[in-house]
Amino acid sequence: PETITVQELANRMAARGGEVVKALFRMGVMATLTQSVDADTAELVAQEFGHRVKRVAEDDIETGLEGAVDEEGEMLPRPPVVTIMGHVDHGKTSLLDALRKTDVAAREAGGITQHIGAYQVEVPGGGKVTFIDTPGHEAFTAMRARGASVTDMVVLVVAADDGVMPQTIEAIKHARAAEVPLIVAVNKIDKQGVNLDRVRNELLQHEIVVESLGGDVQEIQVSALKGTNLDKLLEAILLQAEILDLRANPARAGEGTVIESKLDRGRGPVATVLVQKGTLSTGDIVVAGSEWGRVRALVDDKGRPAKVAGPSAPVEVLGLSGVPGAGETVLAVESEARAREVSEFRQRKAREKTAAAISAGRGTLSDMLA
Ligand code: GDP
Ligand code: MG
Repeated sequence: PETITVQELANRMAARGGEVVKALFRMGVMATLTQSVDADTAELVAQEFGHRVKRVAEDDIETGLEGAVDEEGEMLPRPPVVTIMGHVDHGKTSLLDALRKTDVAAREAGGITQHIGAYQVEVPGGGKVTFIDTPGHEAFTAMRARGASVTDMVVLVVAADDGVMPQTIEAIKHARAAEVPLIVAVNKIDKQGVNLDRVRNELLQHEIVVESLGGDVQEIQVSALKGTNLDKLLEAILLQAEILDLRANPARAGEGTVIESKLDRGRGPVATVLVQKGTLSTGDIVVAGSEWGRVRALVDDKGRPAKVAGPSAPVEVLGLSGVPGAGETVLAVESEARAREVSEFRQRKAREKTAAAISAGRGTLSDMLA
């Protein structure tokens, strides 16, 4: 099977070996410089480092990796992608709903919103923010397990009357593992007798130091119920985005990650894709996991047909051969032949994994009988 040593992979990307080891570690793969990783893993790492990967056939990994196509000058600011996390009942869903209602564009579209797993808000003062709207923790875990990193920052919702709870701590850990910054939204400030200092001190115990305590974590007091300070929260997100200097080149081929997918009775396989690089267009030939197809239609988060979807836009993609899993990578490729090739390669890979698992199982069984 195709493999490549970590050192060789680093050389081809002109990256430091240690950085590649770290990237692998973040994906849950422990490997030293002299150890080998398989082609799928190498491809994921290469993508993380901003490289386009061209893998024509199994034995072609040797000539597989191209240099990055993004020139510094082509990188334009892109909207931040935000995941809302926090303990159950602290108001994640309420906040997502309330934020969605602040969207200028949705109002213009007649208030039509549909659930596609992510949505984008046009902030009244200018700027856009994309919110991942899938049940926070599970989706985050599932996607990270596949090595997909979709979120730029986490908004940690903490109910003022309840404080830091187990899933609050879990969310802090998720954000740390993903190395993304965090903004604290202290929710339910409309309630009587809430103690903000208590919340701040509890956060401090988990090394989250909010600005009022001299730290650099923004803290916004909100009420999802009353709609209080949502503008401030959006401002804080945009400020954090500015600090992160989020950029993408919209002029290249589209690339993204599947957020949600389903088999729709009328429309066939539907994948909600978060575009992360480039621009996805109708008519594009895309590979999504081991599925592929020509994009028959794109539907935005307001249910409107779209011709294109640029960086940080969530969009429904129609026209795939099957339903790809959440966390799978989506890539626009140059030809159907290429799409078929990549898809067949990935299917074969998946079959090999299954076969390996079965034979491993058989080994165990015969061990037991012996
Ligand atoms: P989730 O489990 O984190 O998604 O929490 P929900 O959004 O489902 O909210 C849990 C409960 O808290 C619901 O009864 C909400 O109405 C209530 N809630 C959410 N936000 C607020 C708020 O700002 N103030 C008050 N008083 N209640 C809220
Ligand atoms: Mg909820």
